[in-house]
Amino acid sequence: MSAIDTLPPLRAVIAEHGLSAKKSLGQNFLLDLNLTAKIARQAGDLTRCDVLEIGPGPGGLTRGLLAEGARRVLAVEKDARCLPALAQIADAYPGRLDILNADALQLNPTAHLTPPIRVVANLPYNVGTELLTRWLDPVHWPPFWTSLTLMFQKEVAQRIVAGPGSKAYGRLAILSQWRSDARIVMELPPEAFTPPPKIRSAVVHLTALPEPRFPAPAPTLFRVTAAAFNQRRKMLRASLKGLDPQIVSRLEGLGIAPTRRAEELSLEEFCAIARSLG
Ligand code: SAM
Repeated sequence: MSAIDTLPPLRAVIAEHGLSAKKSLGQNFLLDLNLTAKIARQAGDLTRCDVLEIGPGPGGLTRGLLAEGARRVLAVEKDARCLPALAQIADAYPGRLDILNADALQLNPTAHLTPPIRVVANLPYNVGTELLTRWLDPVHWPPFWTSLTLMFQKEVAQRIVAGPGSKAYGRLAILSQWRSDARIVMELPPEAFTPPPKIRSAVVHLTALPEPRFPAPAPTLFRVTAAAFNQRRKMLRASLKGLDPQIVSRLEGLGIAPTRRAEELSLEEFCAIARSLG
């Protein structure tokens, strides 16, 4: 019998420890262990990695990560009510699960983990987006992680992987794709969760690139994308004017028509503008 079979079903764990879902902590739990194992597999080979799991809750995904062979899992959970359920999993996998009762937004993950590190999380969506933005911060590159496998509201997942020409394309796409490969690897209906949320969800897998996809000074790239997408309906000659009064001739010099709009510009073109502004 494998360790996972010695653990009680998640519904029983939730009942035993009184883990009624708290809205304030964005608690929508995954109770189907086939599904959590499938999500864990999206993170890639875990056997030689430390895994940082944020928001384990009662531990459905944690069980999946351990059953898929993670060398070690550090599970960071804000809700102290979940700790006994997680301790039970730690007992079933001696020496492989550490539990930290902490707010992920206050955490310095590198202090607790040994590379290579994969991050896996089913988090409240607002916390997930905030952490993703921090983890993609080019100031801290190369990052502490090899890959991120994160559950998002489907609409946010689409914004991460979007290309030019789509409504979802914006700053999050640029930030994500400049420094990583980002793919939607799974979609989940509301019924996959207990209680079911109102929206569909999707798992995004991001792999860190050793070098940026195209060279550009990071602060300038983010200023350019901020200015361009803050006025996404305007032509570049108007939206970027505040960055450079000579923007029209600069864009023409780069072979980019000043009448184009942010939504139509490729990542490579944004990087070219950022390089020329220095
Ligand atoms: N991973 C579990 C699952 O898939 O069933 C639970 C997912 S539930 C959507 C989100 C979890 O994140 C909850 O257990 C919640 O308590 C936890 N959480 C919310 N905010 C957090 C934070 N800032 N730091 C750490 N955990 C947090």
